[in-house]
Amino acid sequence: MKIVSIAERTVPIASSLRNARIDFSEITASVVAIVTDQFRDGRRVVGHAFNSFGRYGCGGPLRERFIPRLLRAAPGELNDPASGIVDPQRALDLMLRREKAGAHAERSMAVGTLELALWDIVGKMRGLPLYRVLAERMGEPGIEPARSVRCYVGGGFYRDHDDLARLGDEVRGHLDAGYTELKIKAGGLPLAAELRRIESVLALVGSGARLALDASCAFGRDEALAFARAIAPYGLRWLEEPCDPADFETYRAVSEAYAGTVAGGENLFSREEVANFLRYGGFEGRVVLQPDPPLAYGLLELQRIVALARAHGVARENIVPHGGNLMSLHATAGLGLGSAESYPGLFGPFGGFSREVRIENGRATLPEAPGIGFEEQPALYRIFRELAAGLGV
Ligand code: MG
Repeated sequence: MKIVSIAERTVPIASSLRNARIDFSEITASVVAIVTDQFRDGRRVVGHAFNSFGRYGCGGPLRERFIPRLLRAAPGELNDPASGIVDPQRALDLMLRREKAGAHAERSMAVGTLELALWDIVGKMRGLPLYRVLAERMGEPGIEPARSVRCYVGGGFYRDHDDLARLGDEVRGHLDAGYTELKIKAGGLPLAAELRRIESVLALVGSGARLALDASCAFGRDEALAFARAIAPYGLRWLEEPCDPADFETYRAVSEAYAGTVAGGENLFSREEVANFLRYGGFEGRVVLQPDPPLAYGLLELQRIVALARAHGVARENIVPHGGNLMSLHATAGLGLGSAESYPGLFGPFGGFSREVRIENGRATLPEAPGIGFEEQPALYRIFRELAAGLGV
């Protein structure tokens, strides 16, 4: 098979949401379409992906380095010789040729987004949903992937007109939709108001074990410690990103002072950064790791991150891919990880899963469309269709 063209575009997500540190009014995502010369069921095989949430689009490195490298590959150079299908590992090796070590975020999103789109192609060529391909390549040997995965819902963002009644409505909506575990934003208000917010949600979910907090890197050391001490009695599922992702001293101080679980990883962009986080964060096993595949070089890097985390004593159960999209759902199921997250109704067409996925009793059923299955997410697929149409496909 051959890659015949690749398109990318930066799309505004245009959201009025805020976490403790930033608002999302200017946030964008890069979408990519990799067009092949192959057809399945009468349709041309095109791989799609986007670079998840929370960071901005990465069109510069896509256009200037990584798309041209893939398009310059010699005929057959990217293919697995056994199957004749594009091999993401070969493509990754080629994309990273002439790249210096370090400064991962400068390229990890562009590379990861293209890598995910290549996995979409592999799934479509084989007629399998991506999680099944991943289970075969990266799962625990002999263990069939489950038909559904544990899935929590993220929300509780800060809004311009915020009150506990609105937050309560949001939480009740999630519980009615089938979710049993939630994560809300934290750290954006004075401590007393934060505690009222947490207690109002706890009253609805019933148990601290069902509620996680995401402080979105809001705190310096003293604030992080004060916040962790204040929430300790609630017995929450985790406290996410209390401080800057590279502030290992504060992570260590919080881990020592706080008996609960600390989480982080969506702002770590390589296995080397994850290694430092686990080595110096002082977690003693009380950590939830949240890598985001398209932000951090893709699924092959995720496989290496999982192996690294396991070697540091992190259970698969405590690896919870970030993203709340189909890409992370497939990663969670295929690699047998702890939980997916979900953002229904947020982030415009990029939020939520496809119409194949149902939420039942705190679990997400898995899609059966070949590849990632964005074709079953109509508002998002429209963006991918327009992108490919620009290439005459
Ligand atoms: Mg987060």
